[in-house]
Amino acid sequence: MQKPNISRKHIRTMIRKISIVTVASVLVSLSITATAMILAGMPGAMGLALSIAGLCPLVITPPASYVFFRQTMKLEAAYAALGEAHQRLFEFHLKLADTNRDLLHRASHDSMTGLANRDAFLARLTERMQHPDPGYLLMIDADRFKLVNDMHGHDAGDRALLAVAEAIARAIRNGDFGARIGGEEFAVILNGADREDALRVAERIRSNVEDMSITTAEGKKLKLTVSVGGSELASHASPDEVMRAADAKLYEAKRGGRNRVCVGQRISHAA
Ligand code: GH3
Ligand code: MG
Ligand code: MG
Repeated sequence: MQKPNISRKHIRTMIRKISIVTVASVLVSLSITATAMILAGMPGAMGLALSIAGLCPLVITPPASYVFFRQTMKLEAAYAALGEAHQRLFEFHLKLADTNRDLLHRASHDSMTGLANRDAFLARLTERMQHPDPGYLLMIDADRFKLVNDMHGHDAGDRALLAVAEAIARAIRNGDFGARIGGEEFAVILNGADREDALRVAERIRSNVEDMSITTAEGKKLKLTVSVGGSELASHASPDEVMRAADAKLYEAKRGGRNRVCVGQRISHAA
């Protein structure tokens, strides 16, 4: 138990309380004794009786009430310490919740672009494929990105990737899910989209990237394009099948000359 911190103020308060209790005890003792003596018909022994009745509480009450008030102070100090400990525990829990949120965010997001990372994407796609709702998956890959790094340096490459992520984020709606699933590869889950919607969003991503120009740290401008492949989130297909189908379409876009969009029809069920 924490020792009470006794200040002058505490001592003054304690002395005042002890004095009040002592005076009250003496008065009560005197009045009880006087009444008892009168009722007993012994007024002759009144003087002695009152002396004893006054002396006893005078001797007993101060130390007894000192012990009582000191215990009370200790108890108050313990309550105060408990209150502070509760407050610290509460603040610690708040910090822990913040740290957990932060860790969860870091574990599921790409630190460079702020988009979801590959693990979070795979988890979302797997979860999404358990529902038969319509939708499309888009895979986006930066074109000839190795050349960007070779010609402008890795830092410029990083800036370009950030710009692509922003272009993707600008092109999708709130309910959609954008992720960076590899070095210069991105993916988007379009919820509730049909082929026309998927083509429209894919084309918006492609043209957003084509229209932007990235400024390197040296102030040079560089241009970039992306190719986009898309596949339906068919209810009979597995996440792997959908990803393979979207990847095949992306490959088609690359083979077709890059900076283009290829979004597939229904994927046939692998036997
Ligand atoms: P393609 O059009 O066929 O996709 O050609 P590509 O050059 O984009 O493809 P390739 O797979 O040959 O090269 C990908 C490049 O992306 C190589 C790698 O250095 C670069 N890259 C991957 N991750 C990062 C990154 O985080 N930062 C930077 N700056 N470059 C990256
Ligand atoms: Mg590439
Ligand atoms: Mg690639």
